[in-house]
Amino acid sequence: MNPNTPLSSAPANTSGPSFKQLPLSPALLATLQQLEYHAMTPIQAASLPITLAGHDLIAQAKTGSGKTAAFALALLSKINPRFFAVQAMVLCPTRELADQVTQEIRRLARFADNIKIISLCGGTTMKPQMNSLEHGAHIVVGTPGRILDHLQRETLKLDALNTLVLDEADRMLDMGFYDDIAYIAKQCPLERQTLMFSATYPEGISRLAKHFLHNPHEVKLLEKHESGKIRQRFYEVHNEDRLQAVGLLLKHYRPVSTLAFCNTKQQCRDLLEVLRAQGFHALTLNGDLEQRERDQVLIQFANRSCSVLVATDVAARGLDIAQLEAVINVDVTPDPEIHTHRIGRTGRAEEAGWALSLCSASEMRRVDNITKETGITAEWQELATLPIEDNSPLVPPMVTLQILGGRKEKIRPGDVLGALTGEAGFTREQVGKITVTDQSTYVAVTRNIAREAIRKLSAGKVKGKTVKVRALED
Ligand code: ADP
Ligand code: MG
Repeated sequence: MNPNTPLSSAPANTSGPSFKQLPLSPALLATLQQLEYHAMTPIQAASLPITLAGHDLIAQAKTGSGKTAAFALALLSKINPRFFAVQAMVLCPTRELADQVTQEIRRLARFADNIKIISLCGGTTMKPQMNSLEHGAHIVVGTPGRILDHLQRETLKLDALNTLVLDEADRMLDMGFYDDIAYIAKQCPLERQTLMFSATYPEGISRLAKHFLHNPHEVKLLEKHESGKIRQRFYEVHNEDRLQAVGLLLKHYRPVSTLAFCNTKQQCRDLLEVLRAQGFHALTLNGDLEQRERDQVLIQFANRSCSVLVATDVAARGLDIAQLEAVINVDVTPDPEIHTHRIGRTGRAEEAGWALSLCSASEMRRVDNITKETGITAEWQELATLPIEDNSPLVPPMVTLQILGGRKEKIRPGDVLGALTGEAGFTREQVGKITVTDQSTYVAVTRNIAREAIRKLSAGKVKGKTVKVRALED
């Protein structure tokens, strides 16, 4: 597999129904065409006729199924760009999800370049957000805490709001946002459309729906993985060998990117330690990380400079990371739905993927439940007989370079690509994903040129300025 393939997890969708059958403006249809959204994904096909008709909606579909565009098209079709007031608001559980949603809405809103979309999340100062709000925004996307803060300071006014979206509602409830959401919803006009998206249906969801949605239609797309795309295997382990077994699987399968799920945060920490001691490039996502550290972890994993990301279900939910060759269930989850959700991360797009589960004797009943609920036959293999054909260390193909200076310095991806392929003399194929954040720019380069790239970038200029560059390595 080419390590430089840009990461895009666009669902393969040349076969679904066309967007043209929806009452969308010709300009919006042209944008969809430009974005190569040639057909609707199943959740879009199921929900857009309902939302465009103005109904409230509760929708459930797996990660990566195109939920963002499903609500974005509904809210964009109601925005009046000449009216300078917040007309739509999307609540998301975390800043990175809010950023992903903001970007997707911006892409879809290209047809009308005077629609202003701002993101309001914690972790940055209030002042610039207040300024942007003062200049008028049509759509705000943010986390409940920060939105609440703006409402209490009266820097955000919602009296013209006509669409409220709760994205990843289950995750927001997991994070204890029920009361904040309730407060925010009460500040919105009663006469509005409310759309709620959720991957699972915990109890709090119906409570939210009962209080804040009006006769909602429900759309539930249960996961059907195309069998054959995800190859599942189960391995019996004793608990004391479990963490070592992850290393064995990695050495046998040699996947470029693996998401390893643990049931607890402690297990994540322990596994990280074991993997690192064995020389794997592994990182973990957990709630204790600062925002900037979380960003860096996700960037390194998404651009293929980290082999293994260790996470709990909560930490990994909703992230749009694709092209995973493998998912390892370090612990078997008691909930078959969560199992299906976990393994759905691999085998996306056209690539096949491995879903490998480690299972102790006391977890056998969980596997039985999974096979019963999902209708698969578990394929068991012996860890002891797994051949290790290649014993060289598993090394990620890319290295992430961090350039100090980002959006604030007006650096754009093209500036960095230009610096590397211009004077520095590297080829386009040696440069991977480029991500610009407020303060920093991250660029993936092939491992063999990393040192040279740092030297040349530091000696040369990006956007006419000298820059500080370092490699992010664990
Ligand atoms: P979800 O919120 O369900 O996890 P996203 O909205 O993040 O999924 O969408 C996943 C990816 O699919 C994104 O990269 C998005 O740009 C792409 N996508 C969404 N709808 C379509 C479509 N109709 N055709 C092609 N790609 C799409
Ligand atoms: Mg989403």
